[in-house]
Amino acid sequence: MFNYCPSCASANIRFEDARVFKCPDCGFVYYHNTAAATALLVDTGRGIIFVRRGKEPAAGKLDFPGGFVEPREGAVDGLIRECREEIGWAPERGALSLFASFPNVYPYKNIVYNTCDLFFSIRTGWPAEIIAEKLRPMQKEIAGIVLAGYEDIDLDEIAFDSVRAAVSLYLKKLN
Ligand SMILES: [Zn+2]
Repeated sequence: MFNYCPSCASANIRFEDARVFKCPDCGFVYYHNTAAATALLVDTGRGIIFVRRGKEPAAGKLDFPGGFVEPREGAVDGLIRECREEIGWAPERGALSLFASFPNVYPYKNIVYNTCDLFFSIRTGWPAEIIAEKLRPMQKEIAGIVLAGYEDIDLDEIAFDSVRAAVSLYLKKLN
């Protein structure tokens, strides 16, 4: 990520333990810490709602609405904000439950971000025709909204390891 120290321009800067940059020449230290991210699993009672990713990484694959938590933001607030931005709808905070957390690796423009993904779920009981009315792709990041029946979910179509693990766990708990 840094080839030269951002403080003294030394080429001796080192990246240790996949998270800390240290410059032996001037003492510069920078922690590239794990970032918090959120995701929402909407369970309609018949299946699970996914968004199809419109952008890299993993363009075309299935993901959940959500994203990075911003500085000075709580995870639930971040999730609600991301849902509004991405699908034009957000859950009531009281209806959300945290059901899983998994680590993920998110490469973006040649930088690898390690994330701690927090997975929230909500049960809606929505019939299929309501979904198109409520949820709309609001950004180019989102290529579409997909309702997948519990039995029809193809784990290979899912964008990230953490999302795959969360979906597997959720389906296991349903059965
Ligand atoms: Zn330095």
